[in-house]
Amino acid sequence: MTDSTQTKPSRTLRSRTRQVRAGLARTGYSETCEALFMTSGYVYGSAEEAEESFDGTRDRMVYSRFKNPTVAAFEERLAAIEGAPACRATSSGMAAVHAALMCQVKAGDRVVAPRALFGSCTWIINDLMPRFGITVEFVEGTDLAQWAKALSKPTAVVFMETPSNPTLEIIDIPAVAELTHKAGGRLVVDNVFATPLFQSPLALGADVVVYSATKHIDGQGRCLGGAVLGSEDFCNDVLGPYLRHTGPALSPFNAWLLLKGLETLDLRVERHAANALKVARFLETRPEIARVLYPGLESHPQHALAKRQMSGFGGIVAFALKDGKAAAYKLLNGLEVIDISNNLGDSKSLATHPWTTTHQRLTPEDKLAQGICEGLIRLSVGLEDADDLIEDIALALAG
Ligand SMILES: *Cc1c(COP(=O)(O)O)cnc(C)c1O
Repeated sequence: MTDSTQTKPSRTLRSRTRQVRAGLARTGYSETCEALFMTSGYVYGSAEEAEESFDGTRDRMVYSRFKNPTVAAFEERLAAIEGAPACRATSSGMAAVHAALMCQVKAGDRVVAPRALFGSCTWIINDLMPRFGITVEFVEGTDLAQWAKALSKPTAVVFMETPSNPTLEIIDIPAVAELTHKAGGRLVVDNVFATPLFQSPLALGADVVVYSATKHIDGQGRCLGGAVLGSEDFCNDVLGPYLRHTGPALSPFNAWLLLKGLETLDLRVERHAANALKVARFLETRPEIARVLYPGLESHPQHALAKRQMSGFGGIVAFALKDGKAAAYKLLNGLEVIDISNNLGDSKSLATHPWTTTHQRLTPEDKLAQGICEGLIRLSVGLEDADDLIEDIALALAG
């Protein structure tokens, strides 16, 4: 028994309050913390009730592949933070990307995306979609002329990540949204690096936002999860049936972890960003480093654009060591606090060598085209004391 009247205030709440309270639907036990409904199905008081639940006369949950109270609480809270009309949770970030794209395309459609993408997103667009007769075109994300040319033809979907992984390229969301709409398509933005706190793609003109909740939304390296946000029409009529029948449902347990993660999202993300800026400024002073990429640095090629469309710059920094792979390995192996890991958005600082791990499968030419060189390190700056992180890097550089 939920008593939602008890937990739904009459006035509009501010963002920080929504992070802690949106989606809260207490049961008859009046618990403080959100309940965890670890159930796959639901029971009916009578055969008539079961029938009415399936023919739509009665609005209730029938199966956790379709809907679950804990998953629904997470969806409602994330939608409230994002300022999105609707949200659907998925079992991982890639399930979210896959469903958000595949639910709306058919043979003969055209899809456009920037070259710099998360590896599995590239695979969906470049390897999977063409198998089903979808034409794909890649552009240089930071070059609006290339977007304009690619979107001069009718296009069903545009997919982008901004900032991109791992080179933190910033793409102009309002400009690409306008071109996408003129081409008759929807713009889907993977907002993982920015988080819901620092960038609102829907307000900037995008149609759909996707998250890997595995990253900052959980933020503590505990579970996988994903989410797709957009209009009621898109989430209910286009995405809804695709999720319902293909089944990438989020576990209620993971939804509960993610729901609790959202309560501290702004505190954590603010600290990630403050630490990242400190670390990036330190890296800029080091002679061993050729280039530091962080959208909050004045030296970032799209810093002005980042300031226009983001309210903060996130917790990921990338930097290239002058002496290539050997120097990158020496640094990684010399770290004592920062861990070597391909994950990101964790409370613990994590460093990765994209050339040999996350982007290993790409050809050297493709890696270089994405700005990934052999000396590049991607650092997900955690919640530790920034001075300990700086000391750790300084000692590892000194060898
Ligand atoms: C991690 C990540 C994904 C995939 O998310 P999973 O939860 O690992 O499936 C997609 N896009 C970006 C930008 C990511 O960083």
